[in-house]
Amino acid sequence: MSSQSSIRWFDDFVGVAYRYYDLRMNVVPLFTDRKKASALWHDIIHWWLDSSIKIRFVEIDDEYWFILGSDSQRPESNLSFFKILPKSENYERFKNGHGGEAYLRLGVYVTKFRKNVKKDELCNCGHAAEDHDKDDNDLCLYEECMCKKFSTFQVTILKRKKTITDIVFLEEKDVKNDPLAWNCLNINKYSKFN
Ligand SMILES: [Zn+2]
Ligand SMILES: [Zn+2]
Repeated sequence: MSSQSSIRWFDDFVGVAYRYYDLRMNVVPLFTDRKKASALWHDIIHWWLDSSIKIRFVEIDDEYWFILGSDSQRPESNLSFFKILPKSENYERFKNGHGGEAYLRLGVYVTKFRKNVKKDELCNCGHAAEDHDKDDNDLCLYEECMCKKFSTFQVTILKRKKTITDIVFLEEKDVKNDPLAWNCLNINKYSKFN
């Protein structure tokens, strides 16, 4: 029996952050619920062997597939992660700067509104909180700006970490030669469109 056939894929997270933190690039799958992130770490990632953790990035046009998996000391409950994401500046920075090694951590992604932040904190529109009108539903005061309400997001990176040394960027045509990426696309892409 091939162990590949038993991979269970999980994509119920909101994205991936790439941060320079603790002297190394960090790959940070993001969750909106801290309890859920902690439970996944405790139940799944904690049992991974660092030396067998793999990350694959498969670029398809303006998007990429984030694929993360590992052998586990508890294979019966193991999960592998994937997410289809738009290419971003941070992604490109990671691609060019990881140097073959990264930390894996989980993160919690929280949206904050004007009343929760200091006045100089920036909105997603690029303007500070104090440039939003608190008497008008937190509308941005810059005339050219389309922002109707202050909001910003904050990422909290959880402490526990694993070291990843198996990081590969692939094009779709090369996926067949990579068992983990092939399994992911085969199950989550190719076999869905028939
Ligand atoms: Zn604005
Ligand atoms: Zn704004």
